[in-house]
Amino acid sequence: MDTPLEVLHRVFGYDSFRSNQQEIIDHVVAGGDALVLMPTGGGKSLCYQIPALVRRGVGVVVSPLIALMQDQVDALRALGVRAGFLNSTQDFDERRLVEAEFLAGELDLLYLAPERLRVDATLRMLAKGDISMFAIDEAHCVAQWGHDFRPDYLELSKLRESWPDVPRIALTATATPATRTEISARLGLDEARHFVAGFDRPNIHYRITPKSEPKRQLLDFLRTEHPGDSGIVYCLSRSSAEKIAEFLAANGIAALPYHAGLDARTRAAHQARFLREDGLVVVATIAFGMGIDKPDVRFVAHLDLPKSVEGYYQETGRAGRDGLPATAWMAYGLHDVVQHRRMAMEGDEAHRRRQVHHLDAMLALCETVGCRRMMLLDYFGQKGSEPCGNCDTCQAPPESWDGTTAAQKVLSAVWRLDKERRQKFGVGQTVDILLGKKTAKVLQHGHETLTVFGVGADLGNAEWHGVVRQLLAQGLLAVEPNHGALVLTDGSAAVLRGQREVPLRRDAHRPARTRTTPGK
Ligand code: ADP
Ligand code: ZN
Repeated sequence: MDTPLEVLHRVFGYDSFRSNQQEIIDHVVAGGDALVLMPTGGGKSLCYQIPALVRRGVGVVVSPLIALMQDQVDALRALGVRAGFLNSTQDFDERRLVEAEFLAGELDLLYLAPERLRVDATLRMLAKGDISMFAIDEAHCVAQWGHDFRPDYLELSKLRESWPDVPRIALTATATPATRTEISARLGLDEARHFVAGFDRPNIHYRITPKSEPKRQLLDFLRTEHPGDSGIVYCLSRSSAEKIAEFLAANGIAALPYHAGLDARTRAAHQARFLREDGLVVVATIAFGMGIDKPDVRFVAHLDLPKSVEGYYQETGRAGRDGLPATAWMAYGLHDVVQHRRMAMEGDEAHRRRQVHHLDAMLALCETVGCRRMMLLDYFGQKGSEPCGNCDTCQAPPESWDGTTAAQKVLSAVWRLDKERRQKFGVGQTVDILLGKKTAKVLQHGHETLTVFGVGADLGNAEWHGVVRQLLAQGLLAVEPNHGALVLTDGSAAVLRGQREVPLRRDAHRPARTRTTPGK
């Protein structure tokens, strides 16, 4: 029998193990259960591929990444590993062939989509084979509290009941302490050893910048910091992915869109080009990148706010897998907060609570005046790190200012408008009133007669947007889901009564302007 190190050399052509790969592999080879927490790009695959090759029998890998199975299996076959997969993209004959190989012991690794485990025939087939171990990839998908729950993953509790003696290794890149506990409970991994690799990606520079003209800002970022580099730009909608890709191409940057609205062939072609060519930018919705292994992605840019810190870390983690400097850049503004606060109100009560929890954490990361990396590591349960020196807030610490009076002005305006009850008003009208602008809409509703009219002339339009954004982020103001109108929250009263101070972050993108003391 080959040792893990020999397999690493001979099959994969690598010199040595990374971080705690060796320990994990030895533990699983010896028959132990494991829960592996490793950042994206950390090298999780080898942690189950090598035990599968060393142990007798077939290693069964459960993965939700159906679209990638063919590629993964092809890549393994090219290395001489006997691999196959079973998922819904195959027809009956293709499945039969793989099943026959499995039963004949002609496979080292079998990749399985989780929904296959709901099919009795699959379970009967597995029962007839000789299984060396189960790997559960993207294990956070079993956690209902997590950001990427997949009901099919609940079926995985069956593995332990049906195969009590087969070792199981669960792997994820995005486990907060709560998610980790839930994975362990749902998969029955109480006896599993936990392996936590450092979550830090020190070569990634994190930056979150206030959004003013996103396309122009993105272009500036690419031209000044990443000319000719490969990278991924994430946006929320298919149409903006299309538009941004066109915009970049029109400005001389090789860019391709990638989203679920494109047919499978175009998507595969764009993905293949991204992997093979140098200096290509893919503008994608989150549909892109799960399991994509391109070591020299030099930047990941977000033009829209991700829904969770887990999602953000997973997406930005696709940059700089080769360990060389890379940038995680994001433009974030008031509109993102309004939109996400509204989206977070959709669905049933439990769903809403989860969404709000995830969004609050994401917004706190955007608005922090502290080191972003510390906040990220802390979020993933790695406490006690020092300011990193390689994020925007470390390099140019943002000023904070006492926004209590400004906040009171916004909240009183919202309260006045709400009292009218005839119609709900959004951010634009509220800020126009504070600024004392006699727009047609202001005059139409007689808002120039409100006591708050013009009380905010000491700040500019952009600054008021910054104040409203931060009040929304802090939950001191809310968005009414149907019309997007601003409404007060339980927290607003304390501010209005002067019982609560509101420290705000000064947005850095505008040149400093002379002003009176904010709020005075
Ligand atoms: P993850 O699944 O954790 O995101 P992968 O398993 O895809 O990461 O590994 C990321 C990259 O690192 C891959 O290109 C992989 O081949 C490479 N890699 C993993 N382990 C080693 C190692 N010990 N030596 C060299 N390269 C490695
Ligand atoms: Zn920092």
